[in-house]
Amino acid sequence: MIQKWFYKRRTKAEKTRTQLTPQATALIKARNYDSEKYTVCPIDLVNFNVKDGNKDGLVNLSEKTCSCMKFQVDKLPCRHALAAIRFAKKPFGDFCGDCYKTTSWVEAYSGNIFPVGHPSEWTIPEGVRSMVVYPPPFRAQAGRPKKKRYKSAGEHRNGNTRHCTICGKSGHNRQNCRNAQPCQIPVPSATSATSATTVTSKRPRRPYRCRKCGEEGHNSQKCPLTPEVGGTT
Ligand SMILES: [Zn+2]
Ligand SMILES: [Zn+2]
Ligand SMILES: [Zn+2]
Repeated sequence: MIQKWFYKRRTKAEKTRTQLTPQATALIKARNYDSEKYTVCPIDLVNFNVKDGNKDGLVNLSEKTCSCMKFQVDKLPCRHALAAIRFAKKPFGDFCGDCYKTTSWVEAYSGNIFPVGHPSEWTIPEGVRSMVVYPPPFRAQAGRPKKKRYKSAGEHRNGNTRHCTICGKSGHNRQNCRNAQPCQIPVPSATSATSATTVTSKRPRRPYRCRKCGEEGHNSQKCPLTPEVGGTT
């Protein structure tokens, strides 16, 4: 696994032809582009006042610092520094920290990692071989140790399985009992006015009556006595 990682990263690093790593190159490119409209006012050979239209930056190229602090913290030139470096016509690679350079990247993965081989071929020191490894010492936790096993799905806490209240058999409940008489089946809701009258549930609902005419079988929306049907308010 680590061998693969190292191989992949080393190959990628060795293929990189730029002086900086791809991430650093992209960052510098973006900052360079942003700094194009900045005006550089040289103070001396190493100090530059870079005007960005906001807080400006006071860049010192020999100390690699800027008043915006990015230059010294990132170890990569900030926008002000890039403008100053362009102005001074110096290679910007000289102002980038070594950790951003492709050479350090290649170096990081230069080591080879070899497989450990089969355990029978390992050379184990006698001191290690003679060691017997025991489990860690037991330390009692707070509270009485649990003796009851966690119940599985379908097992009831008191040990009894649940039974149907209609037929008394297990495996289902009265909601979906097949042994129940039609009158015992609890009707979830009156599906329609006609079926509700044929199948009466244990607790029969009071039949719905129309609020306008007082008759059953329809509601005030569909009442034939009123001329307006389905108001469009
Ligand atoms: Zn700056
Ligand atoms: Zn049943
Ligand atoms: Zn009516």
